[in-house]
Amino acid sequence: MTLDDGSEISARRLVLACGVTDTLPDIPGLAERWGQSVFHCPYCHGYELDEGPIGVLGVGPISMHQAMLLPDWGPTTFFLNGALELTPEDEAQLAARQVRMETATVESVTGPCDVHLAGGGTVSLAGLFVVPRTAPGGALATQLGCEIAHGPMGQFIATDEMKKTTIPGVFACGDAARMAGSVSLSVGDGALAGAVAHQSLIFG
Ligand SMILES: Cc1cc2nc3c(=O)[nH]c(=O)nc-3n(C[C@H](O)[C@H](O)[C@H](O)COP(=O)(O)OP(=O)(O)OC[C@H]3O[C@@H](n4cnc5c(N)ncnc54)[C@H](O)[C@@H]3O)c2cc1C
Repeated sequence: MTLDDGSEISARRLVLACGVTDTLPDIPGLAERWGQSVFHCPYCHGYELDEGPIGVLGVGPISMHQAMLLPDWGPTTFFLNGALELTPEDEAQLAARQVRMETATVESVTGPCDVHLAGGGTVSLAGLFVVPRTAPGGALATQLGCEIAHGPMGQFIATDEMKKTTIPGVFACGDAARMAGSVSLSVGDGALAGAVAHQSLIFG
């Protein structure tokens, strides 16, 4: 493996812990607020919003899942943004969760989390949730020929339950190698990948 200073490293085993890149919808003001007032994980950030008004920005059918979860943390508006069409059954499920549906296009986000709509309305929120498109960080996994899996949020490195990729001697852990992650899940995966990589040097 060549590093960016030109030096080279050889190893008998490799653990990829390269995380993911997140791609957000191209809406002015959204990316700047990522991790501040724009989030993807209710379990990480829902409680911090102190039961304030919450938005879900539609990116596709997966946004229905987020919109159904979030009312447990605050009154929720679902900005469909032309990204998905709801069935009558979807609408009934959202109504049962008291989710307000908004069909006007989202034009920008300003201030702490003020969502501006085409036609002039503004909805001020404590937080806005959006599902990003994810892909493994960097190019190492694809350069090595590791199989890439496809989940509802995007791509990740395919592994077995022991964190082995499809390339012998190459392991992967954390966000890079699961459908969706968290710090605690990544730490656990990393511990497993490291132990299994070590043991494979001894037992094959
Ligand atoms: C907005 C936001 C908020 C979040 N909030 C929470 C939260 O509150 N609680 C929680 O548990 N989780 C949270 N998460 C998820 C959490 O950040 C991730 O699950 C966790 O960081 C994944 O750890 P990781 O080590 O797998 O990857 P990362 O933390 O992404 O680390 C991967 C590292 O590898 C580096 N890298 C990539 N390629 C190369 C290369 N070729 N050479 C050298 N280095 C490379 C990257 O630069 C990066 O530093 C949040 C995520 C986001 C996006």
